[in-house]
Amino acid sequence: MWRCWHRTSTGPGKTSDVRRVGVSSPRQQPGRLTSWLARCGGLILVLAWTWCGLVVPAHADGLIISSRPAGEAGPQVDAAQVSPVARAVPVIVAQPRTYVVQRGDTLSAIATRHGTSVAALMALNGLASADRIQAGQILQIGGAVSPLPQLSADGPLMRVQFWPWPPRQGQTMAIWLQTPAEVSPTLRFGHQTIPVTAAGRHSWALIPIDALAATETRPLTITVGSMTWVFPVTIWPGAFEVQQIPASASDPILSQVERVNAEWARMAALFARRSADGWTPRSRFVLPLAADVNYELSSPFGSRRTYGGSTGISAHAGEDFAAPTGTPVLAPAAGTVVLAESLFVRGNAVVLDHGRGVLTGYWHLDTLAVTAGERVRPGQVLGTVGNTGLSTGPHLHWELRVDGVAVDPLQWLE
Ligand SMILES: [Zn+2]
Repeated sequence: MWRCWHRTSTGPGKTSDVRRVGVSSPRQQPGRLTSWLARCGGLILVLAWTWCGLVVPAHADGLIISSRPAGEAGPQVDAAQVSPVARAVPVIVAQPRTYVVQRGDTLSAIATRHGTSVAALMALNGLASADRIQAGQILQIGGAVSPLPQLSADGPLMRVQFWPWPPRQGQTMAIWLQTPAEVSPTLRFGHQTIPVTAAGRHSWALIPIDALAATETRPLTITVGSMTWVFPVTIWPGAFEVQQIPASASDPILSQVERVNAEWARMAALFARRSADGWTPRSRFVLPLAADVNYELSSPFGSRRTYGGSTGISAHAGEDFAAPTGTPVLAPAAGTVVLAESLFVRGNAVVLDHGRGVLTGYWHLDTLAVTAGERVRPGQVLGTVGNTGLSTGPHLHWELRVDGVAVDPLQWLE
């Protein structure tokens, strides 16, 4: 299967104590991020008094905290309308315990073994039905719970909405805030300041969760004026493949470390840029390949990789689409070309800046059809699928970065 063997995740040689081994890669949250954000953003423009939660898809695993009591007149969201899961999901403040589903397991057997109930496991893991588990799937088993902060009816923060909730490794978590007055809230996640985009009484932010992020609880701090709320956010494990890259394939990476690192540093600087305009929650992302292209996902985002028998683990920073050489690669959304050239590791490469810290990359192309500085429209041809750079066969490596952090691009598709 064609894929790239290079490590492109969070830095050359970055290691992590990965304790989970996923044998298959079930997708918990396919697509929906841009759809969710766009619905929210679109409504805000149309109905000033309406909150986006009203149109969250029925099964969105989001969480809403509102200062308004249920039953009050006016546009309101009961958590039950949004997601049956949202009501039941407790906030885990202890290190989450996980279990990898084995062949032949049933949810009730797992519940009995761990001293919990089927209902609790379903709520914790967002399962719609008790028999929708499969071998290799990672289940959250339990943990201590702490209450979420309450919002007072006359306070400066009316509503907070998170999606998805809880976030998993490699996902982008979107946050919407509603305030009674036009203010600019500030947001911190752990020690990190998160850029907030304010539009009147609504504001939004994106928090990228690194694929190798520790599965721990981090405080999300929201400050409006003189008041601060702290929401404990627990990062849940993703389900990732493990790939051992053989020594022969690892050689170009391991023997030319300086060249590899120099390219990595250059890309990191490029991905860290944050242009003010451009991408908005109404922007949609589509697949960078035409609908009739016969492709195969040859190496999923987040796959854990070890090279040449070493113990260092890195994560695959993008999705690999194996497709014939010459297949057109399309812009998934409007953006500006900030790189279009040949690189040692990534081969013929294109990077698009979509604005507000959202950038995408396309590696191993056969030909390039755009030049740096050019503005592209959605669906415009960027180049063609190829096998340039460190690659084992024709494929497109598609990467999406939010504020420099590689996240799963498939979460962004409609
Ligand atoms: Zn790749």
